[in-house]
Amino acid sequence: MNQTATIFQPAVIENLQKQVRGKIILPSDKNYDQARKVYNAMIDKHPAMIVICTDAGDVQEAVKFAKENDLMVAVRGGGHNGGGLGICDDGMVIDLSGIKYVRVDPSAKTVRVGGGSLLGEVDHATHAFRLAVPAGIVSTTGIGGLTLGGGLGYLSRKYGLTIDNLLEADMVLADGSFVTVNEQKMPDLFWAIKGGGGNFGIVTSFLFRAHEVDMIYGGVTLWPIENTVEIMTWYDKFLNTAPGELSGFIATLEIPGPPFPENLHHKKFCGIVWCFTGDLDKADEIFRPVRDKQPVFEHLGEMPFPAIQSLFDGLLLPGLQWYWKADFFKGLTPELCEQVKKFGSSIPTPLSQMHLYVIDGAVSGIDNSQTPWAHRDAKYAGVIIGVDPDAANKDKMITWCRDFWNAMHPFSSGGSYLNFEMSGESDEKVKSSYGENYKRLQDIKRKYDPENFFKVNQNIRP
Ligand SMILES: Cc1cc2nc3c(=O)[nH]c(=O)nc-3n(C[C@H](O)[C@H](O)[C@H](O)COP(=O)(O)OP(=O)(O)OC[C@H]3O[C@@H](n4cnc5c(N)ncnc54)[C@H](O)[C@@H]3O)c2cc1C
Repeated sequence: MNQTATIFQPAVIENLQKQVRGKIILPSDKNYDQARKVYNAMIDKHPAMIVICTDAGDVQEAVKFAKENDLMVAVRGGGHNGGGLGICDDGMVIDLSGIKYVRVDPSAKTVRVGGGSLLGEVDHATHAFRLAVPAGIVSTTGIGGLTLGGGLGYLSRKYGLTIDNLLEADMVLADGSFVTVNEQKMPDLFWAIKGGGGNFGIVTSFLFRAHEVDMIYGGVTLWPIENTVEIMTWYDKFLNTAPGELSGFIATLEIPGPPFPENLHHKKFCGIVWCFTGDLDKADEIFRPVRDKQPVFEHLGEMPFPAIQSLFDGLLLPGLQWYWKADFFKGLTPELCEQVKKFGSSIPTPLSQMHLYVIDGAVSGIDNSQTPWAHRDAKYAGVIIGVDPDAANKDKMITWCRDFWNAMHPFSSGGSYLNFEMSGESDEKVKSSYGENYKRLQDIKRKYDPENFFKVNQNIRP
């Protein structure tokens, strides 16, 4: 039972319950401990109440109640955020998990998605029409936080970030009002949510552009960690001529066990996880240079797009300890790759990894000022993740992540992808991540949320 959260009189809660169709969960409820869990088990927060909203009306009532009772508010989409920004101590969690739907319009190639939906739900619904919305690479991630922070994945090189495919959003603002924003309606606010995180309001519905994606050719190739410098510098050059339909993120990793063959278990590798969405008849030709690099393990083949999108779900179950640190890079110099090899050789726990996601192509084809996402001139979004089921390994994981980050950081190009950071990043980090867009974001924040009602996020101070 929570010792810290504000306790409300039963009549007050009964009154709120009359206004919302969703459930209100209090510290005294038996499912409270389950409901307050987020994906990262390192986060252990005790809100005063969790309101599971089922529609925009519920969200409006929750906002109104929180304002009247001076409650801090955290908004939870998929609950995946590394820093646990979907939960707070002693306040109200506006949980959007009851607002889940995906409606595909195959003729317009658009997709309407409820604010609490998960990527796997979107991929499942769109795949039926051989369409896909560019988003992330793990199916249990929330579309809400991912989109509002930018959204990168296998389709980014060809079709841009998730925000580059956002056409419209329904939102509840800090004053409780409901608005629809797009290029014509409230364009300043529409601009701000394309990377400005949860700072501006609660999105109850997203409208995305979708693209024709069906079967893909992809999977994993691995090289011994000793070959890291060679593979990374080769890949960096290879990308310059590779078609936009090909994407692959670099990972330094340890093979933790099955489903990989036993001879690989507990060894460390430099890997690339591939996804090719182009003409499958050309896959052999496209992957010839990859095979010429003689990976020690290859698991490549045709699969439906949702299959590659959920390839790692089984390894990354909810409830693990996670620590994140991020940076952007414009290229992969041998000096940087040497550091990657060094720290990739001393992975502290089997699931801890370093990833470099490619963000050239369509992502860089848009000017930095077109959306708040200000580092489109970088080529890679890098992230170091310490991951383990056992809380006892937390300190060694965090130390490894920080040391690794300190070694890579001198080669970075400034700022970082805030969706790949823990919470409590300094104002300076948030500012440098938005670069020249920060001032404009601040002005818009001042206009729509002058009291900083939405502050459990990578905060833009009004
Ligand atoms: C295993 C894993 C894989 C990942 N892979 C990728 C990837 O491939 N690409 C990528 O870009 N990112 C990836 N991420 C990072 C991911 O984008 C962030 O963790 C993101 O914050 C998750 O969104 P969420 O809705 O699940 O998070 P939550 O914890 O629910 O929320 C995060 C933040 O977003 C706000 N928010 C969420 N939904 C809404 C909404 N509807 N309206 C207003 N505010 C909202 C919250 O208030 C909070 O500030 C990954 C994360 C994990 C854990």
